[in-house]
Amino acid sequence: ATSRYVEKNPKSKPLFEKAKASLPGGNTRTLLYTAPFPIIIRKGDGHKLIDEDGNVYQDFVGEMTAGLFGHSHPRLQEAIISAVKNVGLSLGATNPYEQRYAELICSRFSLDRMRFTNSGTEANLHCLAAARRFTGRRKIMVFRGGYHGSVLSFPSDVSPNNVDLGDWVLVQYNDPDAVKQAFTKNSDIAAVIVEAMQGNGAIPATIEFLKTIRSETTKAGALFIIDEVVTSRLSPGGLRKLVGIEPDLVTLGKYLGGGMPFGAFGGRADIMSVYDPSVTGSLTHNGTFQNNTIMLNAGYVGLSEVYTPDVVELLNNRGEHMRRKLAEVFKGTKFCVTGRGSLMCVHATNTGMQPSQMTCKDDINAVDALDLRKLFWLDMLDAGFWVQPRGSIALNLQIPDEAIKEFIDATARFCDKYRDLVV
Ligand code: PMP
Repeated sequence: ATSRYVEKNPKSKPLFEKAKASLPGGNTRTLLYTAPFPIIIRKGDGHKLIDEDGNVYQDFVGEMTAGLFGHSHPRLQEAIISAVKNVGLSLGATNPYEQRYAELICSRFSLDRMRFTNSGTEANLHCLAAARRFTGRRKIMVFRGGYHGSVLSFPSDVSPNNVDLGDWVLVQYNDPDAVKQAFTKNSDIAAVIVEAMQGNGAIPATIEFLKTIRSETTKAGALFIIDEVVTSRLSPGGLRKLVGIEPDLVTLGKYLGGGMPFGAFGGRADIMSVYDPSVTGSLTHNGTFQNNTIMLNAGYVGLSEVYTPDVVELLNNRGEHMRRKLAEVFKGTKFCVTGRGSLMCVHATNTGMQPSQMTCKDDINAVDALDLRKLFWLDMLDAGFWVQPRGSIALNLQIPDEAIKEFIDATARFCDKYRDLVV
């Protein structure tokens, strides 16, 4: 399968080799590196991607969830062009687009106050700064396998990346007792930050786990932050509304920029007031581009006109349907699929583990069938489906029902073709 990959992409290889002269390992975004070389994409169009060799793929990666609108959505193109032409990118001044979009986000996601950033990573960093200032404490509870940005990633298989563990209390995901014990041991926790579904592996949190975090944080005077950078697409008010858990702060990102770089954080007015510049000694938060008009206009149009609550329901119902169908195809094999709504992950395990058994990344890593996962990725690419080696799938709005059916059929063909390995 790898030789087929090399054969079909003669132009990507030399471009990658050239990139190595100016980018470390030819790469400026770690996740996009794939051996022996990444396929270089020339263009995105609707729900399709076209690579440098003219191979066409139906896009099921959806830019790691940020590409919810599909490529070059006409309404978003208009919004972007209108801001460029009529207003200008960044004015060095307050503009009316800020208020308009903030009001919409606050009402849609039930936040008292919010602030914009340029990325989900920044949103999380500033949210943690707010929690530390508000509580006067430093420690943050995080979870194994959690990802809140590349400087805030806590992979379960290696030691935490780029962070000084001193301030972090690292706890097992979906383990309510471990949360309680960590609070008993550490009286000085400022906040708990958690994904209500871990993006890496699409592992949903149990209600009991989230409820425990809620009650333990309240008891300890710590703040509860839900990172909804990825999951806010799962219901009109985000995943937390779907599961009925109320944190103190929420962080947002990805599609909410209407295709432009985006991040935001917000929640309780008393906490967010640490960023009120009229108060002496308040925290600064000064990113040059965080009130840029292109993102503010595209994001507003995307949320108010395109990803409206009825469309949210539709897209996520289609995701549920796709996951059910994939589960049928994978029945009796070493593959399975986890996730919620329009977000899912295809897993290959040595033991034929079922989604209900996958409660944390350590569970999955222990039985991960890396070679099988790679084979699935290569076979699906060859069949014209853009997927990730790690199996994550995010549906975009421009994927037609027919493409979902084709994806499921291709998966069934894969299982038949490699029956000996897959079962
Ligand atoms: N939080 C979560 C849950 C994420 O998945 C990501 C990005 N994949 C981030 C934060 C960081 O967002 P960004 O890449 O925009 O910095």
